[in-house]
Amino acid sequence: MADFDVVVIGAGPAGAAAARVAAAAGARVCLLERAVLPRYKTCGGGLVGMSRDQIAAAGLDWAGLARAQVDALTMTLDGRLKVTRRRRDGQPILAMVMRPEFDAALVDAAKAAGAEVRTATTVTEVRDAGADGVAVAVRGGPDLVASVVVGADGTSSRAASYVGVRCDQVDVGLEGEFRVPSYLAARWERRMLLDWGPVPGSYGWVFPKFRRTGAAGGAKEEHFRTSFGPEGDVLTVGVIGSRDEGPALRAYYEKFVASLGIADLPRQHDSGHLTRVRAGDSPVRRGRVLVAGDAAGLLDPWTREGISFALRSGRLAGAAAAAAAGGDPAALGTYPERVEAVFGSELAAGRVLLGLYSRRPDLMHTMMSAGPGAFGLFTRIIDGRSTIARQLRRPGVTATVAALSR
Ligand SMILES: Cc1cc2nc3c(=O)[nH]c(=O)nc-3n(C[C@H](O)[C@H](O)[C@H](O)COP(=O)(O)OP(=O)(O)OC[C@H]3O[C@@H](n4cnc5c(N)ncnc54)[C@H](O)[C@@H]3O)c2cc1C
Repeated sequence: MADFDVVVIGAGPAGAAAARVAAAAGARVCLLERAVLPRYKTCGGGLVGMSRDQIAAAGLDWAGLARAQVDALTMTLDGRLKVTRRRRDGQPILAMVMRPEFDAALVDAAKAAGAEVRTATTVTEVRDAGADGVAVAVRGGPDLVASVVVGADGTSSRAASYVGVRCDQVDVGLEGEFRVPSYLAARWERRMLLDWGPVPGSYGWVFPKFRRTGAAGGAKEEHFRTSFGPEGDVLTVGVIGSRDEGPALRAYYEKFVASLGIADLPRQHDSGHLTRVRAGDSPVRRGRVLVAGDAAGLLDPWTREGISFALRSGRLAGAAAAAAAGGDPAALGTYPERVEAVFGSELAAGRVLLGLYSRRPDLMHTMMSAGPGAFGLFTRIIDGRSTIARQLRRPGVTATVAALSR
């Protein structure tokens, strides 16, 4: 007899979504998380349109969770050729969240749906328990037995090892959270920056995370330069690129931070984290164990955007797990097909774009800053109203990309 219908490992966006959906479908769900919540996660916290849609569909208010919404995008090519474009239709380019509070809200939604949440609980192994289901070994405690397990335990996933997930792209992100003095808050209000980096395939970002400028009218210059907004009001600044380029990426990060004039500001966090993209034929299921989100290597290869992938795949896995636990074992068999149907073309298109971008970041800069038309297309993609895959299939684009990729 299983302890739970569904055990979900990892309480990030993928795990919280899986637990919420499975519990809402009537399954007895336990969500295991090794950290104490709220926990820090190295992440830009930028929500694209598809992430916002998923949050809204879960009954949560993404705007209330956001620290900022940005409608202006500055782009530079390794610090040069600065171009700024502003969106004027009242919609954000990205909504910015702090991951500790964002993830905690998602976990609260899973609890409200009926999931039991156990924090400070580290899973050490997942193994087949025969007719009983799947055994989940927990450090310092007895094993749990579940009919179905959803592994959503991020890039160093135990469940992914069990399933045999293979990734053919491993990147590292380096990121700091810098406290924002008033003069910087005024400069970055509602504006983000993307820098097409000097290391092949890399880029850098500045994401504002504060609700107000804090610019005190009439304050003396000295006060203006040294007064900070509330604790937690930050600029998130980072770079990402291939793990193989570790030292060059570190040098890029330091140069990027220095170029922004913020190197001496207090840092609330300064950390690194891996992202991994699955190989096209990698499994996402073994028997009664499914993987979702970063654990499955589901992440856009070019932008490394992963929150929408985590929310969407978590939802699919939670639904399949609940259906299987409720007596429909075929639901597990169709999970890989559904993952392929939803993400396959997005992943393939992201790979093509990353290949092109790695060779010709200057071209990307020229295209992205070419005028209102190019920016309009970018906003349609980031909103989820179009996809890179769809754009690459347009007449003429396929041939051009193929020629440039040679
Ligand atoms: C520097 C950087 C910037 C990024 N910026 C963005 C961005 O702006 N927008 C975006 O959409 N994506 C971004 N991403 C990607 C995004 O962070 C991830 O894709 C997303 O967090 C994946 O969610 P997840 O739920 O799959 O995994 P995670 O968020 O990593 O959650 C996994 C959870 O599992 C827990 N866990 C791990 N091991 C165990 C264990 N053995 N037992 C129990 N619990 C365990 C962890 O503590 C964690 O809480 C960025 C990534 C990096 C590295």
